[in-house]
Amino acid sequence: MSSKDWIEKDFYAVLGVDKAASADDVKKAYRKVARESHPDHNPGDPKAEERFKAASEAYNVLSDSGRRREYDEMRSLFGSGAFRRNARGGGQPGGMPFDVSDMFGGAGGGDRRFGGAGFQDLFSSIFSGGQAGGQAAPRGPARGRDVETEVALDFGDAVRGVTLPLTLRAPGVCDTCHGNGAKPGTQPRTCPVCHGAGVTTRDQGSFSFSEPCRNCQGVGTVVEEKCPECQGSGGVTKTRTMNVRFPAGVADGQRIRLAGRGEPGERGGPAGDLFVHVKVRPDELFGRTGDDLSLTVPVTFAEAVLGTDLRVPTLDGAVTLRVPPGTPSGRVLRARGKGVVRRDGQAGDLLVTLDVVVPARLSDEARAALESFAEQTPPAAREHLDARVRRVG
Ligand SMILES: [Zn+2]
Ligand SMILES: [Zn+2]
Repeated sequence: MSSKDWIEKDFYAVLGVDKAASADDVKKAYRKVARESHPDHNPGDPKAEERFKAASEAYNVLSDSGRRREYDEMRSLFGSGAFRRNARGGGQPGGMPFDVSDMFGGAGGGDRRFGGAGFQDLFSSIFSGGQAGGQAAPRGPARGRDVETEVALDFGDAVRGVTLPLTLRAPGVCDTCHGNGAKPGTQPRTCPVCHGAGVTTRDQGSFSFSEPCRNCQGVGTVVEEKCPECQGSGGVTKTRTMNVRFPAGVADGQRIRLAGRGEPGERGGPAGDLFVHVKVRPDELFGRTGDDLSLTVPVTFAEAVLGTDLRVPTLDGAVTLRVPPGTPSGRVLRARGKGVVRRDGQAGDLLVTLDVVVPARLSDEARAALESFAEQTPPAAREHLDARVRRVG
């Protein structure tokens, strides 16, 4: 359940208890409302059905001290709007203090057989399980579910931006049995254990626990001849492919939201969103920090000492970098604007680190030249170390 739901719903009003009500009072109030509004006692009464759902939802939160505390905190932070809303509707005796039409249409309102026994799923199943007198009330438009997926991009594609086809696999309703799991021509049968309620109640001392019926997994019906397409689950995996544009400069670990590209809505509701987690494969040459690219370039001792012009690759083409005479190893040269070009047109830099390479083998001529060089070069500045060596050594 989203925090928005929590802000908009007054679970205390639903159960008719004070905000300071004890856990025991909450339980008593819930039992009273649930008893009065139970669909078995009110066949074909959508008002009672809604009240039963709402009470169950409220109790689900308020009976858990941790969730109740979260709920209270959230409402105290964002509560003023919700309060007005409740105050407006709360005066009608027996009326719902808020609009329940969208209550079960949210994230959990999809197909009950697929998502595990989510709470809302469980209760929606009570009312669509085909029990006696229980024609399910028509529900309003429901937003489609958000979908999350992960994509690995090549380094250069992430820097430049790329459009890729993305194939999503998502659970959908089986077209052969329309989701009831029964072989075409047969019907699911009301569960003999829970009599279609989807829940069983167990007494334990002074408490009673409701739990999803184990015989029918909370669905309320059992299938005797399974649909060959979905093996009785009512669901199949559906794939869809779409082209997704990744903007230039997208970074590893970034999450991109594509509004309306999630699962389609139900009954005319809007589609959910697609969230794409981006992984960027490392490049064999370039590193990246934010909008800057980095590259390490080996140079010889002579190049570092005498200076040189280096041709180095960028992601697009090559640039010439001037290495001034007397450049130390590890010096970073900057090729401005050769990094990641952002959407606003600004670009990062290419940072080139010079790595002076010491040759492991020398020709006789090179050795002679180097020895001659050494004779004509003052010693390295190590006096400060030599002083310490004399003292401790
Ligand atoms: Zn099927
Ligand atoms: Zn059952």
